[in-house]
Amino acid sequence: MCFDFSEKIRTVSNFPHEGIQFIDITTLLKDGNAFHMAIDSLAKVFQDKDIDIVVGPEARGFAVGAPVAYALGAGFVPVRKPGKLPAETLRLEYSLEYGKDVLEIHKDAIEPGNKVLIVDDLLATGGTTLATVKMVEILGGKVVGLAFLIELEFLHGRQVLPGYDITSLVKYS
Ligand code: 5GP
Repeated sequence: MCFDFSEKIRTVSNFPHEGIQFIDITTLLKDGNAFHMAIDSLAKVFQDKDIDIVVGPEARGFAVGAPVAYALGAGFVPVRKPGKLPAETLRLEYSLEYGKDVLEIHKDAIEPGNKVLIVDDLLATGGTTLATVKMVEILGGKVVGLAFLIELEFLHGRQVLPGYDITSLVKYS
């Protein structure tokens, strides 16, 4: 399958702050053909890996992760900002470039030994994904792979995720 997904992604200047170049995937999501092919392309990489659970961080990780889970016949588990999940959660605080953030996952969402694929729209510094990996592993899950629509290679997210099987469809260098 050969498709130029980059044509379906746009860059918006000065969002959410002055000086930031935001990669906007809503243009890819609204194109039925591109969305279908992107989800199938990610799922295909992991189709023989017996994935039990796809974990997706809020919020664009839901839009990409849930359909990948469906395509793989796996379950979907959300990772959310604090105070959004109703049952007992595991909380993890992690560092951002400026400051800190917190993510939560339901404690009973992952069974020990579950094979887990983590899916998000975009890999930048890797902080969000590393925090998600840590939560899955604390709960006893085995992280089989990490999948993204987009990878910002110049931010070297792979360096904070050594040893993990990482797939991305579009790379910005
Ligand atoms: P990281 O933690 O790897 O630095 O940042 C990745 C996380 O931030 C992902 O959850 C992603 O959704 C979000 N993110 C950061 N920058 C962008 C961007 O330019 N576009 C999009 N779509 N998401 C971004």
